[in-house]
Amino acid sequence: MSLAAIERLPIELLQPIFASSGYNLALVQASHVLGTRLSSEYVFNNTCNYYLTELCDDYAVRSAAQSAIFASKWMTWSFFKSWIIGTYESNGCLCGSNLDEGCFDAQWPPNFEEATSMVFSRSHLPRLAFVRCRIPKKLLSAPWTSEKVRFLRFLLWVTSMTVDWRDPEMYQLAKEGRRQAFLENNLEAVELFNNNRRLGKPPTLETVRFAVTQANCNRSIIYDTLRSTYRWSSSRETWNNEDLYQWCDERIWNNDIKGVWLRGMLEALNHGELGTYDKTKERDILFDRIVGGAAEAYGNKFDDALIINELPWNKVSFVSPRVCCISSYATTLVFLLVSKKIYSIIFALGRCRC
Ligand SMILES: [Zn+2]
Repeated sequence: MSLAAIERLPIELLQPIFASSGYNLALVQASHVLGTRLSSEYVFNNTCNYYLTELCDDYAVRSAAQSAIFASKWMTWSFFKSWIIGTYESNGCLCGSNLDEGCFDAQWPPNFEEATSMVFSRSHLPRLAFVRCRIPKKLLSAPWTSEKVRFLRFLLWVTSMTVDWRDPEMYQLAKEGRRQAFLENNLEAVELFNNNRRLGKPPTLETVRFAVTQANCNRSIIYDTLRSTYRWSSSRETWNNEDLYQWCDERIWNNDIKGVWLRGMLEALNHGELGTYDKTKERDILFDRIVGGAAEAYGNKFDDALIINELPWNKVSFVSPRVCCISSYATTLVFLLVSKKIYSIIFALGRCRC
């Protein structure tokens, strides 16, 4: 098949044409030849510079391009990290400003291993918070490699990317990805699904049941799932799940200490007198007070260590999460009016940290 005239142009001409088109991705999507010829680190970096910063001011075009960029094969964790370093190193912070320009809590170098350790707030947002597009399929499906978990965690922490829940394929993909995280016994991946509401609904006792009966999960995963269930539960939750108690009793009958351990936590939740606790405390702290003793019990009888990670994704107070969220939204709205930057509210709503 003969090549079109534009496909025969030397790369020295193709690159400026692509730039002059406003890095129009339709150009590379329309022709495999053009796509291949424009596949270089130089072009990828320039395309990211255009769409992942605020150079492109057409929201719809920018958002669609951002989704396409993150879905691209070339957008790997390794490439993204190098682009981040190249883009923000001169400022010395992911907020994109230096100390003279208003940065007051420089987050540098970026913690790519554990993104949630980086501190941001409504008055100190990462520049990438304005990136509002779709999380790509490749970051929602198994296998849950450590690289994939780190990439997804970083994007959830510094951008406003979301799953396209209206797309039935994406819905199924995210649901299956979550199931596989449990089946792979991958604590870090499970933590993301359990604790970040952009990845779906909170876990329930049914999720805990799946973790113990179907996925044979380790204690750390069961603890995190039960803690997240508690965090988002209503005061009407009874913690009397017949299937779970039955599973515990069968395990106890077979001298499996895991049954005793889980039953101890469920009974602690069932009989916990919440009224005696300081209601201003966060739910995770309450959970620890209620089940802490039961969770730590029989430790020397297990082969696996109980890993309890403090996760900063959601901090829901016991009194009234709804009031807390409304207050958060109101504060954000004021900030929105002052700053006139729409992405600030999107970022805050996506990561309620009441
Ligand atoms: Zn900063």
